[in-house]
Amino acid sequence: MDTRVNLLGLPPPELEAWVQAAGSRPFRARQLQHWLYKRGVADFDAMTDLAKDFRAQLGAQAEVKLPEIVLARQSEDGTRKWLLRADASQAFEMVFIPETDRGTLCISSQVGCVLDCTFCSTAQQGFNRNLTTAEIVGQVWLANRELGFEPGGERRVTNVVFMGMGEPLANFRNVVPATQILLHDACFDLSRRRVTLSTSGLVPQIYKLAEVSNVALAVSLHAPDDKLRDTLVPINRVHPIAELLEACWHYLDEQNGRSVTFEYVMLDGVNDSPAQARALSQLLAGRPAKVNMIPFNPFPGTRYRRSSDAAIWRFRDELLQRGVMATVRRTRGEDIDAACGQLVGRVQDRTTARLGARAFT
Ligand code: SAH
Repeated sequence: MDTRVNLLGLPPPELEAWVQAAGSRPFRARQLQHWLYKRGVADFDAMTDLAKDFRAQLGAQAEVKLPEIVLARQSEDGTRKWLLRADASQAFEMVFIPETDRGTLCISSQVGCVLDCTFCSTAQQGFNRNLTTAEIVGQVWLANRELGFEPGGERRVTNVVFMGMGEPLANFRNVVPATQILLHDACFDLSRRRVTLSTSGLVPQIYKLAEVSNVALAVSLHAPDDKLRDTLVPINRVHPIAELLEACWHYLDEQNGRSVTFEYVMLDGVNDSPAQARALSQLLAGRPAKVNMIPFNPFPGTRYRRSSDAAIWRFRDELLQRGVMATVRRTRGEDIDAACGQLVGRVQDRTTARLGARAFT
């Protein structure tokens, strides 16, 4: 069995501890980090200012292992999606969304999901496993490389959102160190406002997160009342809206954050009426909150339809009129099944058809 440690999974203090335990001085950890994160070099032999015997030791005891790309696709609108191998039969996905002033990478935290939100295609595949910290961080490292990052150049990934497959707070143990690596100035050095964790509302974990992290928080609300939210986001039966909102305000207080983004998928005839917009504004008016409306992205077998454009704009106007900030998320990458809620990462169906069964043996 390969017992080498994957350095991409170690936040700076742990990397330093590992280097010391291996008998080297702490500055070696900083050198390593510089090669890894500032220069984008994964090959120990190319890290020329490291002592030769240290490099040999690294080769024997450590590795920089990136997720393996199974399939890469590019949308007409420039959005890119990569299918990454998790194990023999399962894969996960990441999506890069280029914009004029930034490049956002949407990463996965789990293979599959336990939460069973009725409008999400990831839910349909059930839960397979948590991604490791190295697999989470590896997505950002890999995307930068695939997008042409070179030493001294600009990184293309300027923003990271945990909005891919999985519920990040259900994989707390691996996600929190990953956020530390994304933020740390010796690593990716992203500002806290450029790393967003999206949760369906795991209330106890939001309180825990407030103690250890200060990333931006997004919450998948999707309904203005418990009765409807119980059916769309079943975790609501355990942690209802009032409890969830309390946790959000607590997070902002603790972390001195500006606002929480509330995601709201627009489902035709389900949650998109003007009365529901008014109910939503009653929950959020006067609070440090932004609503991000997401036109529903259909997938095979779904019973939902996307709200009409008229309903979407009407809903937004109702919110704005009541002083609630609201934006409509532009759908990107739909032609390659890369849009919100369309990530499946399964090896069967469409993907296998294109790849042939060999790809996963
Ligand atoms: N589990 C986390 C992270 C997923 S983020 C969470 O629930 O927040 C992905 C966002 O896309 C969530 O807000 C999710 O509710 C939304 N979404 C899921 N399925 C969708 C679909 N079919 N169309 C549009 N948005 C969807």
